[in-house]
Amino acid sequence: MIRNRWWLLLAASACCNVHAESIIDGAAIADESRTGDWLSYGRDYSEQRFVPLSQIKPDNVGKLGLAWSLDLPGIKSLQATPLAVDGTIYFSGNDSIVFAVDARSGQLKWRYDPEVWKHAGKRYRLLFPANRGVAYWKGRVYVGTYDGRLIAVDAATGKESWAVQTLEGETGYITGAPRAYNDKIIIGNGGAEAGYSRGYATAYDAATGKRIWRFYITPGEPAKGFENAAMAMAAKTWKGEWWKFGGGGTVWNSITYDPEFNRIYLGTGNGGPWNQNVRSPGGGDNLFLSSIVALDADTGAYAWHYQTTPGESWDYNSSQDIVLATLKWQGRNRKVILHAPKNGFFYVIDRSDGKLLAADAFGKVTWATHVDIESGRPVETPEARFPGGAGLLYPSSVGVHDWQAMSFNPQTGLVYIPTVDMPQYYSQKNMDPRSWVEKPFFYNTGYDVIEVEGLGQIRLSASLIAWDPIAKRKVWETPMPGLWNGGTVTTAGDLVFQGNAAGEFAAYHARTGKKLWSFDAGLGIVGAPISYQIDGQQYVAILVGWGGALPGAFGVGVARHGWVYGAQPRRLLVFALGRKSVLPPTVKAPMPIPLDDTKLTIDKPLATAGQQLFNTSCHLCHGFMAISGGGAPDLRASPLMLSPDALRSVLQDGALASRGMPQFDDLSDEQIRSLYFYVRDRARSDLARHKAEPAGDTVLPTGS
Ligand code: CA
Repeated sequence: MIRNRWWLLLAASACCNVHAESIIDGAAIADESRTGDWLSYGRDYSEQRFVPLSQIKPDNVGKLGLAWSLDLPGIKSLQATPLAVDGTIYFSGNDSIVFAVDARSGQLKWRYDPEVWKHAGKRYRLLFPANRGVAYWKGRVYVGTYDGRLIAVDAATGKESWAVQTLEGETGYITGAPRAYNDKIIIGNGGAEAGYSRGYATAYDAATGKRIWRFYITPGEPAKGFENAAMAMAAKTWKGEWWKFGGGGTVWNSITYDPEFNRIYLGTGNGGPWNQNVRSPGGGDNLFLSSIVALDADTGAYAWHYQTTPGESWDYNSSQDIVLATLKWQGRNRKVILHAPKNGFFYVIDRSDGKLLAADAFGKVTWATHVDIESGRPVETPEARFPGGAGLLYPSSVGVHDWQAMSFNPQTGLVYIPTVDMPQYYSQKNMDPRSWVEKPFFYNTGYDVIEVEGLGQIRLSASLIAWDPIAKRKVWETPMPGLWNGGTVTTAGDLVFQGNAAGEFAAYHARTGKKLWSFDAGLGIVGAPISYQIDGQQYVAILVGWGGALPGAFGVGVARHGWVYGAQPRRLLVFALGRKSVLPPTVKAPMPIPLDDTKLTIDKPLATAGQQLFNTSCHLCHGFMAISGGGAPDLRASPLMLSPDALRSVLQDGALASRGMPQFDDLSDEQIRSLYFYVRDRARSDLARHKAEPAGDTVLPTGS
């Protein structure tokens, strides 16, 4: 540590942008003069992702070029926002693997692998084991692992300092980034659909890993007593025996620390299961699902809450960024929260008391007509809870805006949001909510699992929008070439950077949305860029790592981009003005063509049973209707799927566990044969369709 400081002092004398003090604590994260670093998930405590650097600007961004790139062999998906701390970039990849890279040269300093596949057990099958980032505090890097551990890693050596298991029970996982404040590290949990899932966030001592407090999002069983008065209050908004399901409300992404009020804001998850008729029959608001919950940062005591979607029933969680800002609101400065959750309304909330100031639709919404400002409640449309038993609603379960980070630029006053325009078909026609049974380690929505053909005519789209939170309107919109795109960063140079599904990394004018520069990254991008400065040079960095759960689930809607599992390298790219490094080219692969075993007679009843099983346990990675979006192999084209014995070995014996394919040892031979026939059936019909119409069609997700 002393040696490190000595080195930094020398560096500081050469340049103003390296700080002599290497202790990164709350003061450093909140220090507005530390313009060169990116110290927390959302850059600083505001989570604005606004970079006060203006070396790169509209009239020179055309000269932006690749400074260096780093290939990351073995990595399958990169969703993280990197940190840039005193000349080192820290980030995580899938399976919570952490990297430290020299921010000047791109040389790998260390790689830490927590060996998630050895620890995760059945959790490994719940979702693709993505990870969205790390925290930094006083010489340590902190990562939440997919199997539920919070791990402190020495930032200089990459050696583990301590590890603690944060999850209760057998289900659930962590994919989100921890946050560091007041010598504490806070982390939530994920997996509201995983079965018996109850959401919470927990604060740990940064030095030792000792647990300090935990706040639950849903109330437990009343007979066992409530943890606090907030849980007793929340329990009045539930019906039935919700605790048997856990209720959901996982804190899997959004956690913001507010130093001005010394509070933590949690963005809470959807219901577990989604269907409220199952979870809380007879209704109720179901606190604190789909809410912002404000807590005392030191004790975890409840301060206030605002619920964006009362009686959540559509996977409309409030897990999206909670951004802190001070806005000139009706003539006076107000400290506010900016929040654009899945349900499609953009919220401005007074963070002193949680009072709603504005809520306006920023995309297509058919579940509610508007939000009543006085009561703070949405006014649902008659079709919102599909009285006919089924219906198509906007937005879908990925929302108008999902977890991909938005950014706020105080100079333009605009918020830059990656949005999706897509409906979802929900159905409870063929099921009885009273007898629906939750299955741990499968994907539980509480709705019918069906494949709806013939919805392909609906136009699906995505765009980057700039939203004015004071004027409550969209100022500009730029269409995207695909549905599932990356997060944004905005700079004092009047720029917005974003990567997209088609593998384009682009800069837009922050005031007009005009595209000013772009780079072919050779693979789809889902993470968010950062910008930092060293030795007087401004850099922009992005992780290029198409993959994770949804690129699989979107199926053909994203498969057309040409990203095939394993075909393209995952990389960190770093750009600066005047640099001209050349990225080794990657190939765009054609969509995999299904294989057919023409001699096979398909057992149709078994294939139908396999469809149900596939779409509750395989689809998030291998794609809805077995069409992979490149996040995992396309099973229709897999030679392994031609053999029921090979499939049995993968599922029952875990033959590919070390390569990331989870073991399903509780599946019977009959169930495995049903999956085999389902995939063979899909492959045969899709091959016929492919021959008739090679361009393919569009597949919508349904309530599965
Ligand atoms: Ca969800």
